[in-house]
Amino acid sequence: MANDNDDIRRRIRTIPDFPKPGIMFRDITTLLLDAEGLKLTIDRMAGQVEGKVDLVAGIEARGFLFGAALAVKLGTGVLLVRKDGKLPGATIAEDYALEYGTDRIAIHADACTPGARVLLVDDLIATGGTARAAVRLLRKAGAVVTQAGFVVDLPELGGAAALRGDGIEVNALVA
Ligand code: AMP
Repeated sequence: MANDNDDIRRRIRTIPDFPKPGIMFRDITTLLLDAEGLKLTIDRMAGQVEGKVDLVAGIEARGFLFGAALAVKLGTGVLLVRKDGKLPGATIAEDYALEYGTDRIAIHADACTPGARVLLVDDLIATGGTARAAVRLLRKAGAVVTQAGFVVDLPELGGAAALRGDGIEVNALVA
């Protein structure tokens, strides 16, 4: 690779044992604090986007930040993929498995027109449970979802591979 994004990698902080023992938390707040780091991140994420996108879908909460900045750059609006119970209008929801139990995300039922080409964005993909549920949800709403962008991929957790199996082109800046 011509650019291994080390300038972005070194702006991401790792906090061991958060939120529980054994987890290496990749903390992108340090990247967000850095004006040049943030700009490099959005420029490079935009550079990985293929073809025309009608809407960017950001996953709560850190996906909202990268998603919104990317949307401005791409000239699109932002669709919020939220934890269930937070959106005020009529919603559709999708469950996904956690290590223990399940969680549920939702979007406004009228958030996208059928056939809209939606780019999914989050800060990080680990097991892929969240992103895969978001893809199912967006497809249920009629969106055409063929690509997803992340700042960080944790490839050993298999999420990106699983998402590719769902027909998604997965891009990440650092692994
Ligand atoms: P997953 O559904 O397992 O792919 O988890 C992805 C979501 O959990 C993303 O929204 C991330 O922000 C968060 N996440 C999971 N693992 C980590 C980690 N090691 N460091 C930072 N965030 C993480």
